[in-house]
Amino acid sequence: NATLQDFDPEIAQVLDRELDRQRHYLEMIASENFVPRSVLQAQGSVLTNKYAEGYPGRRYYGGCEEVDVAESIAIERAKALFGAEYANVQPHSGATANAAVLHALINAGDKIMGLSLAHGGHLTHGMKLNFSGKLYDVAAYGLDEQTHRIEMEQVREQALAERPDVIIAGWSAYPRHIDFAAFRAIADEVGAKLWTDMAHFAGLVAAGLHPSPVPHSDVVSTTIHKTIGGPRSGMIVARDTVLAKKLNSAVFPGQQGGPLMHVIAAKAVALKAAAGDEFKERQARVLEGARIIAERLTSPDAIEAGVNVVTGGTDVHLVLADLRNSPLDGQQAEDLLHEVGITVNRNAVPFDPRPPMVTSGVRIGTAALASRGFGAEEFTEVADVIATALKGGADVDALRARVAKLADEFPLYEGLAQ
Ligand code: PLP
Repeated sequence: NATLQDFDPEIAQVLDRELDRQRHYLEMIASENFVPRSVLQAQGSVLTNKYAEGYPGRRYYGGCEEVDVAESIAIERAKALFGAEYANVQPHSGATANAAVLHALINAGDKIMGLSLAHGGHLTHGMKLNFSGKLYDVAAYGLDEQTHRIEMEQVREQALAERPDVIIAGWSAYPRHIDFAAFRAIADEVGAKLWTDMAHFAGLVAAGLHPSPVPHSDVVSTTIHKTIGGPRSGMIVARDTVLAKKLNSAVFPGQQGGPLMHVIAAKAVALKAAAGDEFKERQARVLEGARIIAERLTSPDAIEAGVNVVTGGTDVHLVLADLRNSPLDGQQAEDLLHEVGITVNRNAVPFDPRPPMVTSGVRIGTAALASRGFGAEEFTEVADVIATALKGGADVDALRARVAKLADEFPLYEGLAQ
């Protein structure tokens, strides 16, 4: 029963250093967040020891009485949070949730139509090397060349021409709301199922600060670790129970074996947090922060230096900085911000002239810093640091000092030692 430090100092050191990194950098990767300690505790618990193939009350293993309680609570909380009659909390990740959704809805060879990866879609929405691109016939839709938005009349025309079996709404990098009612109408017109992947914006939906896809979609998948701020994992919900049997059987035994009960318990904790007032207040700061950053990156001095923002602003927790007119490419901008102490990822902008490993943009998210406590004042300071860096020629040490001051003012996991 040696501690990690005693038994495996090499790995203990990785944990310590990673905690240190998270404390000293400003985390602005749009898909990341900081879980509360209650989630860390549930996830790092003895529930990791338990096998529980099946569903609560119908397991293929003995001794499931306690984990049944955890999973049932998670299911009920998920349903209540999203106004859904169905929830499956077993997917290990967003990608396995999505695989199960497609297995439940269609057969190999059927046609799917989602936002193309190059325009902000996800790998599981039909990318050619992913299972979704290999198993299904893919007809991706893109953004409008002028507005860089999803234009529903174009989606409709394409759906009428392609006649997909599943239409996918949802994205990994797109800064605007989606018109779910319009997607529903198109799906009905062409006889397709509508699947929404709300992995990124689920926390905003839970807080009532983003339109909900649940009433409009046949099925909705999500991750729990992005704006919701829970453990790394996935989930499926649906407005009714029409697809319940198919979805359950697509997750287990179709897609997975034993569920990760420690993660499911942590999911339950995160879903409890997401129903509270503090969570709503935090998501409001997430949105305010993103708006502040978009405004700063579209101010005259930024534009003059070749910096801009895709669609000119944002409705969500992320901003896509557009560097097509800047001497910096996405890779250089990512590296420069890292030097300054801000972690982001480079990201293609729509119709990006540069290759995917380089890109002409960076994706900047505010969910993690809002969890850390940032409000308008701090986001204004971060926005200015980012804009000053991206404009070029800045004193990197001076920017690094401004970042360090912010990080010090908002301690992370105080008192926690791994
Ligand atoms: N769906 C969307 C829209 C995503 O952005 C992501 C993650 O980036 C996923 C699914 C996959 O989630 P995971 O990384 O947990 O498999």
